[in-house]
Amino acid sequence: MKKANSNQSAEIEGTASKSEVKRHVSFSELRTWIECPYKHKLTYDDKIKLDDSESHYLDYGTILHNTIEAWLNGGELDIDGCEEKLRETWKEKGFDSSEYIQRLTEDAEASHWKYKHSDLEGHVAFARNALGDLPEWMDEQFGDWKCVSAEEFLYEPTEHTLNDDQFNFKGFVDAIILSRKADSRGKVKERYWILDWKTAKAGGWSIQKQQDLKTWGQLAFYKKYWSLRENKQLKDIGCAFVLLRKTPKAGRALRRLDVSVGPKTIEKVDKKLSSFVSARNSGIHLKNRTSCRFCDYRGTEHCDQVLFV
Ligand code: SF4
Repeated sequence: MKKANSNQSAEIEGTASKSEVKRHVSFSELRTWIECPYKHKLTYDDKIKLDDSESHYLDYGTILHNTIEAWLNGGELDIDGCEEKLRETWKEKGFDSSEYIQRLTEDAEASHWKYKHSDLEGHVAFARNALGDLPEWMDEQFGDWKCVSAEEFLYEPTEHTLNDDQFNFKGFVDAIILSRKADSRGKVKERYWILDWKTAKAGGWSIQKQQDLKTWGQLAFYKKYWSLRENKQLKDIGCAFVLLRKTPKAGRALRRLDVSVGPKTIEKVDKKLSSFVSARNSGIHLKNRTSCRFCDYRGTEHCDQVLFV
């Protein structure tokens, strides 16, 4: 048995039978495992869904993603349709109800932070602002660009096996575009860009979040597997997150965060994937107590960790 470090305790579960084991991993699954292998077990092996898992954060992001995807696929940028969908969803799920606000306030208090509610009208203003700026902003950032693919599906073989079977990486890339833009010396450069839209608070992301492998690793995996499949060179592909910041201030919503992905970066994410596969093959699920603060399983019947402050 592996020895647990000071922040971890070990729990060994029986390894799932071969037929039950998935043959792929997505980045969000890998991120959960990096946060806490035991949380990964609860979420992906035991499939434990907690009550009250509805979240306006998730729905807001999904509605904006769908609106942008339809536009990239040649449709109009349907900002009115996006507003309509937001209004329907808020009404259906009660995201401005006192019960919902109370639940989020209590959850936040339990994790020692303060929840500040932004209502439907606020979110409509944020969405209108971000989407309204998007076409012109894309032209400014990427020059003469065209969409190669929106929601590009990846299902690519990794270097690993799980229980002796080929193990794959699965993902959906928000956007792959081909950009033609003049550099500072006027030379036109053609480059692919792998883009991922992220809704974010008005202030954007902290430096700590930007530098975290659990953030940038997503684009590193996308670039690795897309470049391999399409036989493109790494130097011909850029990667960026596009933050859709929740602000009603005109011209302030969109921010591009480039992620530099070369061979060394890819080596780092490969090591993480390798550790994940080894842990899956071993059937060991460590508890990472440094991740408990924002974990929904904390203090439930599924995981009795308490928060130390
Ligand atoms: S509460 Fe902590 S130990 Fe338990 S699953 Fe969540 S992160 Fe892991």
